[in-house]
Amino acid sequence: MVKFCPKCNSLMIPKNEDGKVFFVCTNVSCGFSEKPKKDDLNIKEKIESESFDVEIADSNKEALPVVKAVCRKCKNTEAYFWTVQTRSADEAETKFYRCTKCKHTWREYD
Ligand SMILES: [Zn+2]
Ligand SMILES: [Zn+2]
Repeated sequence: MVKFCPKCNSLMIPKNEDGKVFFVCTNVSCGFSEKPKKDDLNIKEKIESESFDVEIADSNKEALPVVKAVCRKCKNTEAYFWTVQTRSADEAETKFYRCTKCKHTWREYD
């Protein structure tokens, strides 16, 4: 991908800083840099949190704490419990339960 500076039309080169890639103008006297768009970052975070969610639900359930919760399917009173930060850090995390008996999984919103 080749990009040109919108200010001086010099070639822009990708630069990696703190794990974020953005483009910087090669003309030192210009110094223009293009920060990554906020929307792109949000999409990336969303994908990562969703895959993380699935990973915990499918492989790590043995290590999860067991709490008192009534399963709607089999009326069992114990379930594995974990939380997932779904979207931005501003939002409350989502609570997940998985029945220890029938493996029914559900989420709880406050
Ligand atoms: Zn420039
Ligand atoms: Zn159950």
